[in-house]
Amino acid sequence: MPPIRPSVLTMWPFNRTPDAQDLVPALAPEIRLADAADVIHALSEPALIVDGQGMVRLANSAAAEVLEVDPAGLHLSASIRIPAVLEAVAAATAGEDRVSVDYELRGSILRVFRAQVSGLGAGRGALVVLRDLTREQQIERMRADFVANASHELRTPLAALSGFLDTIMGAARHDEKAQVRFLGLMRSQADRMRRLIDDLLSLSRIEMNEHVRPAGEVDLTQVAAHVRDVLSGMAREQDCEVMISETGPLTVTGSRDELVQVVQNLVENALKYGSSGKRVEIRLGRTGDMAELSVRDFGPGIAEEHIPRLTERFYRVNVQDSRARGGTGLGLAIVKHIVNRHRGRLSIVSRSGHGSEFSIRIPLKA
Ligand code: ADP
Repeated sequence: MPPIRPSVLTMWPFNRTPDAQDLVPALAPEIRLADAADVIHALSEPALIVDGQGMVRLANSAAAEVLEVDPAGLHLSASIRIPAVLEAVAAATAGEDRVSVDYELRGSILRVFRAQVSGLGAGRGALVVLRDLTREQQIERMRADFVANASHELRTPLAALSGFLDTIMGAARHDEKAQVRFLGLMRSQADRMRRLIDDLLSLSRIEMNEHVRPAGEVDLTQVAAHVRDVLSGMAREQDCEVMISETGPLTVTGSRDELVQVVQNLVENALKYGSSGKRVEIRLGRTGDMAELSVRDFGPGIAEEHIPRLTERFYRVNVQDSRARGGTGLGLAIVKHIVNRHRGRLSIVSRSGHGSEFSIRIPLKA
């Protein structure tokens, strides 16, 4: 609201405090004088004032941007061709209460808006304020998809567990050998559920803190050596060698546990999916004021069309293959969130048949 001008207040006798009833009639002409245009232009949301004939009398720059035309001076139907909005404006002009109308615009991307239409007094037109709901709806859809995916991922091993239990209690009731085999299968399904829940919790913890930059000091060279040691058993099983390029300390600002999780996820993936190349290289270096760590494998690589989607939750090039290797489809989503929290970048370079390279850049400790 524009500041109350002293001339208005001085109209009041000083010996009594004005009550609301007194202020309204006195302020109204003042606000009108202050000009509705100032109010409209001060709003960050797209806003327009339409007169009793449906002509747009005032519009702010946000409205012109969203409608891709400056609607001022044009009939409202020239910029918003949505019958429900035009009807709401006509109704508000005729004195009806505030109405909101949600509508979609199909251009190169689908955008969703809410038009809030308020009458300005019978016959005097209406104020239309637009809200862009596109991002909100996208987030809502992603959340719903995520819940559906997570439930599906948990339900699959749960169904397998129930099936094995039925067998042990039914057909294999007296077959000790079969029971041992089914118990082993149940163990691996239970492990899968545990991994999934661990990853989901990890992801939600990191997301919650994503805006807070970790403050510790971490030497990425030590992180790489630690991860190589932790995964030495897995590397041996895969008959694959993990090599680290020689380098001195490379200190960044960050959380050691989280950066270990990042490098471990990348090296584990390289061993899970790229071990046919027989070696995995961890390279460390610096570019400007960023430390760079890359994990390179010489396996089958990843076809180009999958690369932009790899960090999406539950996205896997081959679901069966990932499951068979104990994957949850959440590893790279976790990597991306941790790197973001460190104000860093993740890049992926891969070509079918030529192996893959996953690199992270994290700001060096100042
Ligand atoms: P997962 O738990 O399935 O391994 P990630 O999020 O870690 O999930 O990885 C997503 C998918 O990216 C994997 O399922 C796999 O298809 C692909 N991927 C990741 N790293 C590699 C790699 N080094 N080589 C080939 N494919 C990879």
